[in-house]
Amino acid sequence: MNEPLAESEAPQARNSALGEDALWHILYSLGRDNAHPDKHKCYWGLVLAVRDRMLEKWASVQRQYYENDDKRLYYLSLEFLPGKFLRENLLSLGLESEAHTFLRKYSFSLDQIMDVECEPGLGNGGLGRLASCYMDSMATLGLPAFGYGIRYSYGLFRQEIRNGRQVEMPDNWLHEGNHWLIPRPHGLYPIRFYGTVHEWQDDDGTLRHDWRGGDIVMAMANDMYVPGYRNGHVNCIRLWEARPHKEFVLSSFNAGDYIGSVQEKIKDENISMVLYPSDDAPEGKTLRLKQQYFFVAATMRDLVRRFKKLNKPWDQLPEKNVVQLNETHPSIAIPELMRILLDEELICWEDSWFICQKLFAYTNHTILPEALETWPVELMERLLPRHMQIIYEINRRFLEDVRLHFRDEPDLPSRVSLISDGPEKVVRMSHLAIVGSFSINGVSALHTQILRDRVFHDFIRIFPDRFNNKTNGITPRRWLRQCNVSLSWLLSEHLGCDWVTDLDQLERIRELADDEEFRHDWEQCRLTNKKRLADHIEKRNGITVNPHSIFDVQAKRFHEYKRQLLNVLHIISLYNHLRKNPEVMMQPRTFIFGGKAAPSYWMAKDIIYLINCVARRINSDPHTRNVLKVIFLANYNISLSQLLVPATDVSEQISTAGYEASGTGNMKFALNGALTIGTRDGANIEIGERVGQDNIYLFGLCEQEVLDMRNRGYDPWELYKNDGELREVLDMINSDEFTPGNPTAFSGIFNSLLSGGDRFMVLADYRAYAETHQRIAHEFGDRELWIRKSILNTAGMGFFSSDRAVREYMDDIWGVKPDV
Ligand SMILES: *Cc1c(COP(=O)(O)O)cnc(C)c1O
Repeated sequence: MNEPLAESEAPQARNSALGEDALWHILYSLGRDNAHPDKHKCYWGLVLAVRDRMLEKWASVQRQYYENDDKRLYYLSLEFLPGKFLRENLLSLGLESEAHTFLRKYSFSLDQIMDVECEPGLGNGGLGRLASCYMDSMATLGLPAFGYGIRYSYGLFRQEIRNGRQVEMPDNWLHEGNHWLIPRPHGLYPIRFYGTVHEWQDDDGTLRHDWRGGDIVMAMANDMYVPGYRNGHVNCIRLWEARPHKEFVLSSFNAGDYIGSVQEKIKDENISMVLYPSDDAPEGKTLRLKQQYFFVAATMRDLVRRFKKLNKPWDQLPEKNVVQLNETHPSIAIPELMRILLDEELICWEDSWFICQKLFAYTNHTILPEALETWPVELMERLLPRHMQIIYEINRRFLEDVRLHFRDEPDLPSRVSLISDGPEKVVRMSHLAIVGSFSINGVSALHTQILRDRVFHDFIRIFPDRFNNKTNGITPRRWLRQCNVSLSWLLSEHLGCDWVTDLDQLERIRELADDEEFRHDWEQCRLTNKKRLADHIEKRNGITVNPHSIFDVQAKRFHEYKRQLLNVLHIISLYNHLRKNPEVMMQPRTFIFGGKAAPSYWMAKDIIYLINCVARRINSDPHTRNVLKVIFLANYNISLSQLLVPATDVSEQISTAGYEASGTGNMKFALNGALTIGTRDGANIEIGERVGQDNIYLFGLCEQEVLDMRNRGYDPWELYKNDGELREVLDMINSDEFTPGNPTAFSGIFNSLLSGGDRFMVLADYRAYAETHQRIAHEFGDRELWIRKSILNTAGMGFFSSDRAVREYMDDIWGVKPDV
């Protein structure tokens, strides 16, 4: 691969102004006239000029890693959601004012220029965004870290709303090319699928294995750069793209089957064509398993190649490297490394397994039973025959150990087995990841506790030292400094600029909550952000909203456990209340929703349709339109999130307790001064501890109460009978109230809440939720009280910096050191 050689000379640092370089690139790299550049040319020119500066730093940092013989971290993730790059990279490299100077000359603002950039949607939501926040923190801390993933040709679908329903459109994010991504067409890796395993004996008479035949697909690297915040450090995320093994299959080409030979080529490229759009629910398709193995195999090749350059014995592999698996999606890396060590390097099983178990660490992100990944043994045997053999052998040895140590528990081996015997034999990927890793972590205190108590309870006893918690974090660069410019200025005015890399400094604004002038400035910042969002809503949805109303936002993937349904049921009841009591004074509220549903998740799509139907009805009712608005913003992504987060008064984090592993949306909003209405779930609990229980609105059943209630036998019909207000709302949904002429549009939703047993306890939490909202409306009216709480939220959120999270990973798990 094209990496700088350790002995090569450092290139001369550039001294020309950014703008001059941009003009140079417009002419010489883009081949366009640079006399009067339009905004597209300005954008592309700037990108190339910024990229030059990043690449210089990257090259010297890579050289440094070799020179200092650093231990390297490999962060494997099937998803990354970096968001737009230009503003972020300008900020990190300290080039913002130079860029402004250049753009001013041609009368453009940076905002206008940012419209030109496509957002890479290479992830579904929280998991991919976490990977990007962590990459940002690793670069800012100066860690020798390498991100690895897939360069999907099509990212997550673009969501349009037509007649109230979600319509999925392809996201062809590369159609204009993307200069942030540098393809490396030299030195591709061959990746094998299918084929057969041959046995042979080495000179010592040991049985050896050799995987042969099958199909070969080539893996090509595309590198995306991640600069640290003003520290001269640049890391890289390597995204693999599938390329055909041979341009054309020559035999069919010569036989006159030109089109047939091209089809072969297309088939190979399919592997990296599209991101699977299901969040928290694996699809079990062959292509998905191919994607996983494809990117993992190419990544392990890179790791082994770099390690071999060091000429060290194999047992030092885990001393010089550590691999963090983001969920089980890349866990096939464990048998893949075993295969390389056993079959290619001819190392014995015991030594190979020792190396593996010291190399890998696994992060679990979900406890939804339907989201725990499994693959049919039959599929694995066909697609990856050697890996299946290795998994069987790992399992055989592991279960032998378990039987030895837990003699009086005959059921234990089958419970912890890597293979489950149902009607169809499947490989449990989480069990593989646990057995093959030295560290297993959850992503919030509650989530890790649930892993210990329930999901992985058996494994805690087998591997008591492996389990640990790493509460998620978000990068303050993108989620405060970049997305909330007005508040950032206010903070820097009072704190200096260090908070950007030392978020605990925010504690120091706690005392300013008592300062009237500061509170006034704080409120003005919030209002500026709310007006900006109001303009956007006017433009996108054609609806005028009052920037002084409560901006109540629920923006996240649509999932039943996240309970957007609870939110909309409450909105309908507010609407009913207003219609019945036209004389009451009500605090004006604007409810804003954003989020995508997996294309095959019908219930989630029905909930989107319900919200849009309710919005249409409420927004057009002249009796309520001054106090109640409902907005659905289409195509929720990072850019939209950056607009919403600083403009939110009330952040909805209302998942059924025990279901949201951590959440990171909750952190973004609270960091920017929103108050949370939330359940005692995921990181909400820890947010409450940090910002203070007076400054958060926690409500509803806690995780234990959810379990107890289910065990006692929960009957949602009881609530339907006893709560008249709730019954009225449910009956409206079960009629043609919001869908004139079609009374059954939402009968699926109605049934899931009642006869379906209300799996996510929406009705059980309804009353507590409604009462909490009443308290919020009341307290929002007390401006001094509210702004004080808002300030105290931001002040308490330092802990949720991804810098803190990454430091914990670094110290407790990775053992890598900054190299800056
Ligand atoms: C932060 C973020 C998420 C995760 O949000 P949760 O509320 O934690 O589910 C998902 N999508 C986008 C675009 C985000 O920015």
